[in-house]
Amino acid sequence: MIDVVMPTYGRSDLAFAKGEGCYLFTAGGRRYLDFASGIAVTALGHAHPKLIAALTEQAGRYWHVSNLHQIPEQTRLAETLVAHSFADTVFFCNSGAEANEAGLKLIRRYWFNQGETKKRRVITAAGAFHGRTMATIVAGGATKYTEGFDPLIDGFDQVPFGNLNLLRQSVTDETAAIFVEPVQGEGGINPADPEYLRGLRRAADEYGVLLMIDEVQTGIGRTGTLFAHEQAEIVPDILTSAKGLGGGFPIGALLAGEKAGAALTPGTHGSTFGGNPLACAVAQAVLEEILSDGFLDQVRMRADALSHGLDAIRRRYPGFIEQVRGAGLMIGLKMGPPNLDVIDALQARRMLSVSAGDNVVRLLPPLIITQTEIDEALDVLDAVAEDMAA
Ligand code: PLP
Repeated sequence: MIDVVMPTYGRSDLAFAKGEGCYLFTAGGRRYLDFASGIAVTALGHAHPKLIAALTEQAGRYWHVSNLHQIPEQTRLAETLVAHSFADTVFFCNSGAEANEAGLKLIRRYWFNQGETKKRRVITAAGAFHGRTMATIVAGGATKYTEGFDPLIDGFDQVPFGNLNLLRQSVTDETAAIFVEPVQGEGGINPADPEYLRGLRRAADEYGVLLMIDEVQTGIGRTGTLFAHEQAEIVPDILTSAKGLGGGFPIGALLAGEKAGAALTPGTHGSTFGGNPLACAVAQAVLEEILSDGFLDQVRMRADALSHGLDAIRRRYPGFIEQVRGAGLMIGLKMGPPNLDVIDALQARRMLSVSAGDNVVRLLPPLIITQTEIDEALDVLDAVAEDMAA
């Protein structure tokens, strides 16, 4: 008999009743160290007092009004994002895929407004993941996500990730934009070389196309800066955010500079729930915390400590961890043994992690992690390495 919840996921048997900081607890009181953060979402851990305060304060005032009215919480959040990024304007939605979908619509509309109706193809990178809508599965390009969903929407050209020459060769007079992740997440934690990102910006300028960066997973402090592209010192035209932005409350955002952002005029795009006051109040609290003095310095410091510890384990058990890669607290362990076996073994020792492509185990701890929890995670990994080597 079919499960009452549609069977779209391969789930573990674990269920949680409570979370606190970097830990989740089952109803029976078993404690798990959360190095998954709900796949890079709970940036401030579980039950953060400032997020609870922001949510309950807003819940006591009003929950929802339509986007046909002013929503001060939304304006305030947009102002914060604009003040701390390249962007001049923000559209709010509810998820990463929706933000990307909005960005792809913006790209087409931008060129349509300029009378350039031929320019509607977007260049994406192999190994990408941009979500599960009809457009974003094609943008991502992986057959495991597109199979059985024909006719697939047209308008995407995929090139190898990291190869500027092939990308430049694939630009035609129909190219509207280049669209990439600064660190491929689902693809296996593959960080783009900063020089590659700078090369994409140069190519976009040279050919007169837009550059859209997917920071759904990398954004909101995950890689040690508010957005990962900042580390390459480039300015995108369009950027998408979600996951960590709401710290666990669903929200997505499309950020754009003035030139691109002006493309979506009244009536051209919308969302009933996008920019909901509850979501915006929580996201505002998340950003205030992440942008507070020293927070991102701390993330970078913790990330260094974790990476060093992981590297030491890799040196001790090179057949277990083949490579440690990533940026900030978005870390991929390229495994020798099957990644899913390692994830099960970690879970048996009460540590949560996530799989990614290329036989990678992803470590995505909350950004508030302390040295104590890093040591605990390293001990668990060490024990699993020893077990699996035996
Ligand atoms: N883009 C990237 C880079 C992602 O990692 C994800 C989700 O994993 C998405 C888009 C899709 O986000 P959502 O699942 O919120 O639709």
